[in-house]
Amino acid sequence: MCGIFGVHGHPDAVRLTQLGLYSLQHRGQESAGVVSINEKGDARAVRSMGTMSDAMTEELDRVPGVTAIGHTRYSTTGSSSIENAQPVLARTKGGFVALAHNGNLTNAAELRMELEDRGSIFSSTMDSEVIVHRLARSNADSPDDRLAEALCEVEGAFSLIVTIGDTLLAARDPRGWRPLVFGRLGNAPVFASETCALDIVGATYEREVQPGEIIAVDAGGVRSSFPLPRRELKRCVFEYVYFARPDSRVFGGSVDRARRALGKRLAREHPAPDAELVFSVPDSSNSAALGFAEESGLPYELALIRNHYIGRTFIQPTQAGRDAKVKVKYNPVREVLEGKKVVMVDDSIVRGTTTRGLVALVRGAGAREVHMRVSSPPVTGPCYYGIDTPSREELIAARLSPEEIARDLGVDSLGYLSLEGMLESVPGGPHGFCHACFSGDYPTAPPTDPDKLRFGCGC
Ligand code: AMP
Repeated sequence: MCGIFGVHGHPDAVRLTQLGLYSLQHRGQESAGVVSINEKGDARAVRSMGTMSDAMTEELDRVPGVTAIGHTRYSTTGSSSIENAQPVLARTKGGFVALAHNGNLTNAAELRMELEDRGSIFSSTMDSEVIVHRLARSNADSPDDRLAEALCEVEGAFSLIVTIGDTLLAARDPRGWRPLVFGRLGNAPVFASETCALDIVGATYEREVQPGEIIAVDAGGVRSSFPLPRRELKRCVFEYVYFARPDSRVFGGSVDRARRALGKRLAREHPAPDAELVFSVPDSSNSAALGFAEESGLPYELALIRNHYIGRTFIQPTQAGRDAKVKVKYNPVREVLEGKKVVMVDDSIVRGTTTRGLVALVRGAGAREVHMRVSSPPVTGPCYYGIDTPSREELIAARLSPEEIARDLGVDSLGYLSLEGMLESVPGGPHGFCHACFSGDYPTAPPTDPDKLRFGCGC
């Protein structure tokens, strides 16, 4: 998963992009980068491992531009290393090309092999680089046509912000897996993964980039086209469950409203009649826990405090990193928990590492009973479309039944939201969503080699 941002024709394009990326930091913390294009058409990249930092500000001040694109990365293909940091920047026969990608391509291996057979030399281990090579090889006249040609055989999930020369382009795969919104700051068009990034720069939200749409922006204005083959809509429901920020609108709906509705439905499907209070695993399940509390008439308490200076547990690429971080990331409030029968709401259980650690903390702080409620169904399969859950063996619900999971995690009861409950609760549901990780209903053939490091570790 990643966050992407782009702005065209604004004297503060670089600073606005940096601000936008601060708002999209939750979508990826492995690397951050900005490509800036100045009035002469020269493009320069500033990239760094980790989050968008103040240290980058000085470097960014040295690359002013009128158009800029940015990226926060959370790897799904390719290792977590600087050569895989985006935006990708390349010099091609038609000028500079820069690309920021959110998603995961399912036929990247085949496309890469084909390109390598024809002499392409790859400099990263990311799936996204195949699009850059295809752009470089295209002989189409306009940037719009070059992008359309580059994307016509690409399968899987892509929300893209691209520059070709001084044209800024935004594109979304025909199934619309990942969000991408279009706004304006004065006359300057702005694109971002989520509306929270429009808010921070003061841009107004116009609309979503539509599935299958390419929007091109240059001195002549804004053009829209739909050159990609039509497909059934498959927006990622996990964006509403977990990934997007609650103050955002994605897929045309409010993430906060979605999560509250998920929590309410969960309370109806799995009530906890003897419980005395509800609390969330902050921050991603706050809104769902509020919905649960409201529906069940139980008080909502702050029983777990999250240390904000530590990144998302799951975003740590290795298990060792994840285990250690659960303990330092959350601390229980004994005064809230002691002697109480409690409902702990989380948005998902993936590996079970977080929940197991949290249950131990909550019991250690004196809770008498712990009733776990999850505002999504059991995650039983990997995602090939941009969420980093690559191997089935790592997923606790792929190995154990809910009863066994409850025992394994040490909770008194466990209730997962049903698939129907989830799909009926999200805005625009129940149709038009990808729920493959919950249902096993995959919209495409899986990648021939789903290993994240299939193109080498890049180290
Ligand atoms: P786990 O320990 O693997 O069961 O992690 C579950 C926790 O990670 C939950 O609290 C979720 O909020 C969070 N989570 C779920 N999916 C993801 C993801 N793809 N990336 C990062 N965090 C996630």
